[in-house]
Amino acid sequence: MNPAEQIRFHALSLGFSHCGFARAEPLESLRPFYTDFTKQKKHAGLGYLERYTEQRLNPELVLPGVKSVIALLMNYFPPATIPEEDNFIISKYAYGKDDHVVVKERLQQLVLFITKSFKPSRAKSFYDSGPVPEKTWAQRCGIGWQGKNTLIINRNGGSFYHIGIILTDLVVEPDQPETDHCGSCDLCVKTCPAGALNSPYQLEIAQCLSYQTIENKGDTPVDLKGKFRHRIYGCDICQDICPYNRFARPHAEKEFLPSPELKARRKKEWLALTEQEFNRLFGNSSVKRTGFHTLKRNMELAGETPVPAEH
Ligand code: SF4
Ligand code: SF4
Repeated sequence: MNPAEQIRFHALSLGFSHCGFARAEPLESLRPFYTDFTKQKKHAGLGYLERYTEQRLNPELVLPGVKSVIALLMNYFPPATIPEEDNFIISKYAYGKDDHVVVKERLQQLVLFITKSFKPSRAKSFYDSGPVPEKTWAQRCGIGWQGKNTLIINRNGGSFYHIGIILTDLVVEPDQPETDHCGSCDLCVKTCPAGALNSPYQLEIAQCLSYQTIENKGDTPVDLKGKFRHRIYGCDICQDICPYNRFARPHAEKEFLPSPELKARRKKEWLALTEQEFNRLFGNSSVKRTGFHTLKRNMELAGETPVPAEH
């Protein structure tokens, strides 16, 4: 097997569903996007999105001597959805253990495999952090295209994937970049309840319910009130509607399964949630990022008044 085949084979054994390769080169074509993004303050207060632009545009500044980029997908489409009737909704990616812990650990194992198998070589992994435009690299590596909902869509499996990136100085045969297959579809644009996709392929972060329920700890824009559709952590609406997600297959990753307690929870239990229960239920989950008080606020936004927490 050549290096690409060996790395792909090992990636699949670690639980990744797709693995593609691209030549590491500058991404100058993205410069206008970043310039506009920074100038117009489209980051909605997420300051890290406007830092390290030069590094984002040039992987050589992130890993000197880099030759190849490896993009990986890890499926989180659940075998069963938590019932939505009489319930608040949390995003599917947050059902189980914190994806940052799980994906980073698997990426690190792949980095070790690469550096041990192909000496001398260096490799560095990134997941949801670091100056690496992962969606651009995923498309260049041929494992999906960035759809009108701005997410990476794999033509055979949809969009319920975590994206990991590895930079390495190993020379690996690149894959064909993926092309756009959204065509004339605009279901995500039409279905987004918040108008966050009014310009297809561009997410208006501050309007997105995912940003509002997870990142925004301040006031909620007045025009979004009443539009949360029972969502208290994340959204998924523009993914659920995407026709390519008909091809989504359930993951086999036990770390991403919800606990029996989370599965059994309905509105009544959510509304009575105490801080102590929150810490126990979400201590190992990405939901802890939003914090107990923001989750309670989200329940109000989602259309219910929470029962006061016990102290
Ligand atoms: S996650 Fe929800 S609010 Fe955000 S763009 Fe998609 S449908 Fe709109
Ligand atoms: S819903 Fe349609 S337009 Fe939106 S990402 Fe999916 S295929 Fe593309």
